[in-house]
Amino acid sequence: MDTTFSSEDLAFQKEVRDFIANNYPQSLRDSIAEKKRNNEELSREDLTTWHKILGKNKGWSVPGWPEQYGGAGFTPTQKYIFEQECARAECVIVAPFGPQMCAPVIYTFGNEEQKAKHLPGILSGEVFWCQGYSEPGSGSDLASLKTTAVKEGDHYIINGQKTWTTLAQHADWIFCLVRTNPDAAKPQEGISFILIDMKTPGIEVRPIYLMDGINEVNEVWFDNVKVPAENLIGQENMGWTYAKFLLAHERSGIAQVARSKKAIERIKQIAAAEMSYGEPLIQDPAFQRKIAEAELELTSLEYTELRTLAKDSAGKGPGPESSLLKIKGTDMQQKLTELAMEAVGYYANPHMGTSLSNEYVGPDYSTNLSGSYFNFRKASIYGGSNEIQRNIIAKMVLGL
Ligand SMILES: Cc1cc2nc3c(=O)[nH]c(=O)nc-3n(C[C@H](O)[C@H](O)[C@H](O)COP(=O)(O)OP(=O)(O)OC[C@H]3O[C@@H](n4cnc5c(N)ncnc54)[C@H](O)[C@@H]3O)c2cc1C
Repeated sequence: MDTTFSSEDLAFQKEVRDFIANNYPQSLRDSIAEKKRNNEELSREDLTTWHKILGKNKGWSVPGWPEQYGGAGFTPTQKYIFEQECARAECVIVAPFGPQMCAPVIYTFGNEEQKAKHLPGILSGEVFWCQGYSEPGSGSDLASLKTTAVKEGDHYIINGQKTWTTLAQHADWIFCLVRTNPDAAKPQEGISFILIDMKTPGIEVRPIYLMDGINEVNEVWFDNVKVPAENLIGQENMGWTYAKFLLAHERSGIAQVARSKKAIERIKQIAAAEMSYGEPLIQDPAFQRKIAEAELELTSLEYTELRTLAKDSAGKGPGPESSLLKIKGTDMQQKLTELAMEAVGYYANPHMGTSLSNEYVGPDYSTNLSGSYFNFRKASIYGGSNEIQRNIIAKMVLGL
């Protein structure tokens, strides 16, 4: 595996770096920093502004899409460089539900009308999507899902409940797994994949608050929701095949190695500013060892990602190694939020950091480190829990 960048790759890296420097709005940076400081939710505008800017630049909002659908047509190496540069500049993450999850299903299994109707809005960032897979009691055991879709003429009538639906409060559309055949021999064989306009009567979004107090996920309820049959993707009862295809795409994007590298950099800056027994914490051998361990683990993860890239370059899509990336990537994200908390000690706790006037008295870099710590407990659960990923590796990689 050759890990050196060619001169074309280096020119591309400069192009991305310059584009971000010239186009990432300072107002967006300020808005997000302020909300993080105050532990507030990002608005739809915060979440979509950068997506819209990238969408206007040669399809950079959808780096992985084929060019025929308006995608950037990046090589896997360019995709990697692009992600590295966005993380390095701390650009807000483009929500993956439309671009990385639903769109590949639409352009792989959808018909021409569906592609024409949905892909442009996903690319431009005008249309925001959410993912309706999980239900109460049907998370790891997803195939047991109970939300029904009953065909009546040229419509399906949908009833049931989705849960943990990330950012559904902002979504224009939801892609859902629904049960179209309750009598199928296997539960997997009775599931279909359908696109639903969130403005359809009978849909209700109810907030769920995570441990950091933020409404990032929701319940989505369907009460006799009438959905045109033309919104069904591919064939009825073949949804499980499309669902699995989507999950492999979802998992490979979750590792976020480039963002973890940035987090280590930040921890080092914090540790250089924090004092421990009269010395900067960064000089404490015990803390140094923890940083070194994290860096080593992250470097090996990065090489696994590069190996997956090399396979991608050979034209093969994400396989079971996306489960490996998911486990280790989210493990790292959690570890780094712990290390950041450890570096600032009690100032990481917002209640310790506030004075009687409720004004934060800790150093600026420690505001909301506990918020991230609590928030990232989710990482080993979403996208299929890490225990389930281990089961996949046992079966698909180790052949157990
Ligand atoms: C923050 C967040 C955002 C999410 N966003 C979305 C979203 O946008 N859309 C969506 O559809 N879903 C979303 N999810 C749901 C997520 O995919 C599920 O939470 C996940 O699949 C686990 O399912 P569950 O919560 O039902 O837990 P369960 O399946 O009940 O699992 C409970 C525990 O048992 C373990 N377990 C279960 N079965 C096994 C087994 N066979 N072997 C070993 N261990 C097992 C699990 O690992 C877990 O630790 C989100 C979840 C979170 C936390």
